[in-house]
Amino acid sequence: MSAEMIRVDHKLPDPIETLLSTLRESGYEAYVIGGAVRDLLLGKHPDDYDVATSALPEEVLAVFGEKSVHPTGISHGTVTVVVGGVPVEVTTFRVDGDYMDSRHPENVNFTRSLEKDIKRRDFTVNALALSEDGTILDYCGGVDDLKSRRLRTVGDPKERFHEDALRILRALRFASEHGFAIEEETSREIFAQKASLRALSAERVWKEFSKLICGTYCAPILRKYFDVFNVFIPELGPMKGFEQHNPHHIFDVWEHTLAAMTYVPATVVLRASILFHDIGKPPCFEMGEDGVRHFRGHPKVSAAMADSILQRLKVDTDTRETVVLLVKAHDVPLDPILKNVRRRLAQYGEEKVRLLLEVKRADISAHSLKSAYRLEELAKFEVLLDQAIEEQMCFSFSSMEINGKDLIDLGIPTGTLLGSIKKQLLNEIIDGTLQNDRNALLVRASEIWKERQ
Ligand code: ATP
Ligand code: MG
Repeated sequence: MSAEMIRVDHKLPDPIETLLSTLRESGYEAYVIGGAVRDLLLGKHPDDYDVATSALPEEVLAVFGEKSVHPTGISHGTVTVVVGGVPVEVTTFRVDGDYMDSRHPENVNFTRSLEKDIKRRDFTVNALALSEDGTILDYCGGVDDLKSRRLRTVGDPKERFHEDALRILRALRFASEHGFAIEEETSREIFAQKASLRALSAERVWKEFSKLICGTYCAPILRKYFDVFNVFIPELGPMKGFEQHNPHHIFDVWEHTLAAMTYVPATVVLRASILFHDIGKPPCFEMGEDGVRHFRGHPKVSAAMADSILQRLKVDTDTRETVVLLVKAHDVPLDPILKNVRRRLAQYGEEKVRLLLEVKRADISAHSLKSAYRLEELAKFEVLLDQAIEEQMCFSFSSMEINGKDLIDLGIPTGTLLGSIKKQLLNEIIDGTLQNDRNALLVRASEIWKERQ
């Protein structure tokens, strides 16, 4: 089969151009391949450029020399070539061996044929090659699919998903990121083979899923492929169709969550916090005497569930802990009073308070219109927050103008009493009744000590 060739008018970055032409001048084929070509055709700026070549890894080494070539993934045919200070991944054309367990190819066979390398790739829109003169080689109709924003597998979806179940999640991830419509047969196979996601390692699932939830089009994908996500997060199940019968809510718990997903900025921490913020509502449900449903304590339950889901998906501790904190705190009031702003700063620190503002904003935006005034309150809270930060107020022991030793010098014995005096001083500073001034603090510390004796 011959490739469809079209030309694009795009200047590749200099190091990439040099890399491609150097390989070509040495008698090999070399192309930018995969995601970068797709992104260029979509008018997006590629994050990184992958290069595929007919040269074997040792031939790439011979062309660029030992100093510039690092054997990063040499068993898969990938080396990193540093050109003009920029590291670029260069992979030898290959055909994958048999896939034995829906996970990893058993062996890697190199080939000199671009076409064969292209045919092993997952989706037609990712199966495009670009040479340094701007020619695109398209063996699978990827350019047409890109034009009509259609996602389909290279070849039979049944086989391709059977070979590697990760492609199921990758399909949903690309659809969420780029707004592709998933072609009908590809979509049918995604549902049919969803159970094979269980065979994947948690790390690979999270790598794709975390990108998926950051996509511009994540809400329609999460909605349509709900059953697929339930395979690895079954806790989502009860949210769908769970009516709230509460004047603040116009949606069921799942639809409310999806609406909030589109309001919150696209970072992993924020999107995951929104995804899980109400996951504890179904188990917390109580019917009030007034016929209004209540979900007392649901933030705590949601936080515990988020914690166990993220542990199971082997998410890094920092991300997990921040998400758990935000889920737990999502109903904490942020009243626009300076004293409160300082208290929250002392409690969570600036970075987390700002994240909490985003979570609450998205949550409230996805409530009924009756909650609009609460958004104004959050805006006022943010103004006061900026003011508190600018004034560099003291919110922690470490920024107090005295330390433990000063208190000991006053004669206060070390132990719990000393700790509680320090805490009271900090609270009074935060509440604005005490200045963070050395003399004022020493005087007040003596007073408190006397009161306690
Ligand atoms: P991104 O811009 O998000 O990095 P990408 O398309 O470059 O998207 P990568 O995961 O970097 O995605 O993969 C690079 C290329 O390798 C893909 O475009 C695709 O051609 C191929 N590829 C990656 N994973 C698979 C897979 N599981 N099965 C088949 N081909 C794959
Ligand atoms: Mg990539």
